[in-house]
Amino acid sequence: MTTVFKKIIDGELPADKVFENDRILAFKDINPVAPIHILIIPKKEIPDIQSLSEEDLDLMKEIVSVAQVLAKRFDIAEGYRLLTNNGPLSGQIVPHLHFHLIGGRQLGAMA
Ligand code: AMP
Repeated sequence: MTTVFKKIIDGELPADKVFENDRILAFKDINPVAPIHILIIPKKEIPDIQSLSEEDLDLMKEIVSVAQVLAKRFDIAEGYRLLTNNGPLSGQIVPHLHFHLIGGRQLGAMA
């Protein structure tokens, strides 16, 4: 299934990119819920965290590392949320694994 994020990875859709290497891409969320709202995604097409296989676990390390770097760069290292939605009941809309890096204001309750 071709998702909107795959189109961004392939350069078929524009995005405000803030980090990119061979495996990971990060870009600003088009509909931010806070002053800083960045999506960090693996370029590999993995639908959600529940589908992540053992062999892809290193991507998680790298995503956490990218989140730390971006939190510093965007000056939110003292308080942010890094979250992923898994499946329709969580509110996941785009079936390509992604982590929301959210901060820049006092954040509210989780759910
Ligand atoms: P989720 O509900 O976890 O699947 O979140 C999907 C996120 O993708 C939402 O916060 C959307 O605002 C965001 N989004 C959807 N399309 C785009 C796009 N073209 N560029 C940037 N963010 C997007």
